[in-house]
Amino acid sequence: MTVLIVGTIGLDTVETPFGKKEDIAGGSAVHAAVSASFYAPTAILGVAGSDFPGEHLDFLKSRNIDTRGIKIMQGQTFRWSGYYEYDMNQAHTRDTRLNVYADFDPRLPEELRGAEFVFLANLDPELQLKVLDQLKGPKLVAMDTMNFWIETKRAALHEVIKRVDVVLMNDGEARQFMETPNIPIAASRLLKLGARSVIIKKGEHGALLFRDGNHFSAPSYPQDRLRDPTGAGDSFAGGFMGYLAKTGEMSEANVRRAVIVGSVMASFNVEDFSLERMKRLKRKEILERFGEFRRFSEFEAISMAHLS
Ligand code: AMP
Repeated sequence: MTVLIVGTIGLDTVETPFGKKEDIAGGSAVHAAVSASFYAPTAILGVAGSDFPGEHLDFLKSRNIDTRGIKIMQGQTFRWSGYYEYDMNQAHTRDTRLNVYADFDPRLPEELRGAEFVFLANLDPELQLKVLDQLKGPKLVAMDTMNFWIETKRAALHEVIKRVDVVLMNDGEARQFMETPNIPIAASRLLKLGARSVIIKKGEHGALLFRDGNHFSAPSYPQDRLRDPTGAGDSFAGGFMGYLAKTGEMSEANVRRAVIVGSVMASFNVEDFSLERMKRLKRKEILERFGEFRRFSEFEAISMAHLS
């Protein structure tokens, strides 16, 4: 089943302790779609400016991503500029320019209205709502956001959360949005708003799933090749949704597997800038890393005999 991804198509200027790159391919929809495309047919809805390099669109097409929903508008592409210090879990925004997104009115082509798996990637929540209005009975809708929208469009974000199945947020954003330092409390408040599942991404420290009174913790991956965390959250979401679309099954066990698939994809994405690592990624590497995640989270029981 196709995963429809709505979000930004951007050019990023990123500085990490490992270097600085200007105007590289980015945007929440792009990172998420590339990751999802390893699992299921994927389509993007978004807008790029007339300055968006054709080679990036060609790469998306080479991954069989349906780009018919990418509108090219006269003007500049969305731009984000940010930096990371030694704590690379924390992105610092220098500048956000919505550019063509300031005038974007998302219109779903007829053939995508029936999409069953939909990811509303980081985007103006008012645009996320417009997309929700056009969907015809989706099976699973997930959303993500960031501090920029929490600070400027809080009410619209509440509306989006009420209407989706899965909320993905990083730990800092969940704390900020739900106004509590406590992650389980932030998650339960998000569930009370209407989401059926909440996934809290903790950067290099793993991810937490809250669902149906259950709690699952994906382990952290000891990543010693970290170069650029930009897009990790979107790669997580793309893998999560792509895997669920491929398997079509929402049991607790399968959703947990999807959380690990998301973690695997994020762990690869951070190994290089922009989409560079994803361009080289092989399916065999995905399977191997999934196995490593499994081993990292295995432990055996203790018994009374171990206690004095
Ligand atoms: P993440 O997966 O959270 O690291 O997302 C990184 C991507 O989000 C970057 O490639 C940016 O282009 C994009 N981005 C940054 N700020 C925003 C924003 N305010 N709205 C939508 N997308 C954004």
